[in-house]
Amino acid sequence: MIPSAFSYHAPTSVAEALSLLQQHGDEAKILAGGHSLLPAMKLRLASPGVLIDINQIAELRGVVINGNVNIGALTTWSAIETDGELASVCPALAEAVALIGDIQVRNRGTIGGSLAHADPAADAPAVMLALNAQIRVTGPGGTRTIAADDFFTDMLSTALEPDELITSITLNKLGAGEGSAYSKFAHPASRYAIVGVAAYVKLSGGKVSACRIGVTGAGPKAVRQTAVEQALIGSDGSAEAIAAAAAHAGEEMDILGDIHASEGYRRAMTKVYVKRALTSAVARAR
Ligand SMILES: Cc1cc2nc3c(=O)[nH]c(=O)nc-3n(C[C@H](O)[C@H](O)[C@H](O)COP(=O)(O)OP(=O)(O)OC[C@H]3O[C@@H](n4cnc5c(N)ncnc54)[C@H](O)[C@@H]3O)c2cc1C
Repeated sequence: MIPSAFSYHAPTSVAEALSLLQQHGDEAKILAGGHSLLPAMKLRLASPGVLIDINQIAELRGVVINGNVNIGALTTWSAIETDGELASVCPALAEAVALIGDIQVRNRGTIGGSLAHADPAADAPAVMLALNAQIRVTGPGGTRTIAADDFFTDMLSTALEPDELITSITLNKLGAGEGSAYSKFAHPASRYAIVGVAAYVKLSGGKVSACRIGVTGAGPKAVRQTAVEQALIGSDGSAEAIAAAAAHAGEEMDILGDIHASEGYRRAMTKVYVKRALTSAVARAR
């Protein structure tokens, strides 16, 4: 349980962090909350020779809400959970964050660390997909924005380059006729998702005019549920319409089975939790 030796740097600016990343190349790892990286190092699943601790970079921390919502990569789950204005404009995010781990985990874990790590059972990736998040990253080539749809590429893999840093996440505020929700079947010990579902719905003239659903926990990476979305769009969003649409959940994805839940059980729970998240999102949109 003792990690291999590493050198430690604590830059105070993004520019300094990027320069350290370039200098040390593949040997270096960013350290944020440390709740995924440090256990992996203790188990020797990861042995970076250099840790670049970004916790002193103040510009990476905090939530700004104006035309949209901008969340710094280093913002902890606790800071998100206790932001009342954020909860009112992004209810699915607030709901998901309140269900992460326990208070110690939420006090240390960061949104940027979670997205970069892309754990297949993490909650935030599903929310990012449903809310069409834009993930801002910066590297030696400058700054770019990656849509959540393009960000999660495989299990523990993302579109982030090794010399890039996530700096912030941008989400739209919910407007009139829009609703979002998160519903999770949590592992009883870690609280990671066995199945977690984030749903966004827009109603126009009594019909569902837009819908996005992200599922985590069930497969190797968080994915959209486009068959469900297409089935719901154009409907009246009634309980019957939601049930019919939710029956398509899990159709276009690989579903995993392990000691916690078989493939068949996860598939069944994916349909159940898609229905629950949609029901809440539609109720909030009305
Ligand atoms: C007991 C326990 C229970 C948990 N339960 C849940 C749960 O229920 N749901 C859930 O979603 N999560 C859960 N987590 C995960 C936790 O909430 C954190 O989100 C997660 O550990 C990653 O965030 P971090 O800040 O700790 O990242 P770190 O561990 O510091 O880093 C993780 C990875 O991301 C990279 N990284 C970090 N920040 C950046 C950045 N800004 N740019 C580029 N790369 C970066 C690091 O180099 C590393 O590879 C749990 C963790 C523990 C220990």
